[in-house]
Amino acid sequence: MKEIKSYVNDRLAEIAEYIIKNNLKIKLTIINVGNNQASQAYIRGKVADTKKVGITCEVIHFEDTITEAELLDEIDKLNKDNSVTGLIVQLPLPKHINETTVAEAIAPEKDVDGFSRLALVSPATPQGIIDYLEYNNYEFVDKNAVVIGRSNIVGRPIAKLLLDRSCNVSVIHSKTSEENKHRLLQYADLIVVATGHRNTIVDSDLQVDNENYVIYNNLCKIIDVGINKNDEGKLCGDCESVTVCEKTPVPGGVGLTTRLALITNLIKLYKIAEKSS
Ligand code: NAP
Repeated sequence: MKEIKSYVNDRLAEIAEYIIKNNLKIKLTIINVGNNQASQAYIRGKVADTKKVGITCEVIHFEDTITEAELLDEIDKLNKDNSVTGLIVQLPLPKHINETTVAEAIAPEKDVDGFSRLALVSPATPQGIIDYLEYNNYEFVDKNAVVIGRSNIVGRPIAKLLLDRSCNVSVIHSKTSEENKHRLLQYADLIVVATGHRNTIVDSDLQVDNENYVIYNNLCKIIDVGINKNDEGKLCGDCESVTVCEKTPVPGGVGLTTRLALITNLIKLYKIAEKSS
């Protein structure tokens, strides 16, 4: 698969030019509850990306003692604030706050993460995966796609987007037996791995049943969505040790197209708001 960094940078430069030329006043508001370190790193990334293209980004912080009702009140105020184009409530939330209730409380026209049922845009990570594949001219129809992970943020929506493009989709999860996992992976054309666990798949998972000699499913492509730290403290994906087939890098893979998809979603929501005003 082709290197993606320069494509993403070029697209961001084009977007920045478009925003300046048309004097667009786009604003992203991010609500951060508590002090989760991973969340703070993701938020720093979003602040940097928006700044790069001339989008205002405001981060509102609440202590993790905030009640669900208080948080819903704050969301309601931001839903009614015309200066806010897109609203993100950074996940995960403290256990006493229901993430689905919060996602559904964000007005669809401001739901830039696309997590609610009525969202007008696709969630950024699954869209970023599709963009990555389309950039590589991937032919989706009748491909055997296996999605590993079934979260609302990645696994389920990417399964749907692949099905929408006529892939034959299987979803596996923590309750899938090793036998069934192997059965599906040996005939997979495309594997999307999003578990958050290092070495979710290793070369032997891709071994094709053959009595005489060892062969691997080396024609499949792996999209590695996971973000983990390796023993040296460096970022790595969910299948860092796989060598027998092509896989997207971590970092520098679908993380980049995910960030681009978020900016693209903000512009879509800005245009929708403009049309309806
Ligand atoms: P999540 O909510 O924790 O979901 C993980 C999923 O993986 C669950 O459905 C779980 O199954 C499944 N799972 C766990 N261990 C498994 C195993 N050994 N075999 C098969 N399935 C297994 O995580 P998430 O939010 O989807 O994120 C997944 C990873 O992607 C994380 O590393 C996250 O940091 C990364 N991520 C990256 C980006 C990006 O921009 N690149 C964006 C979002 C997330 P059960 O449902 O049965 O528990």
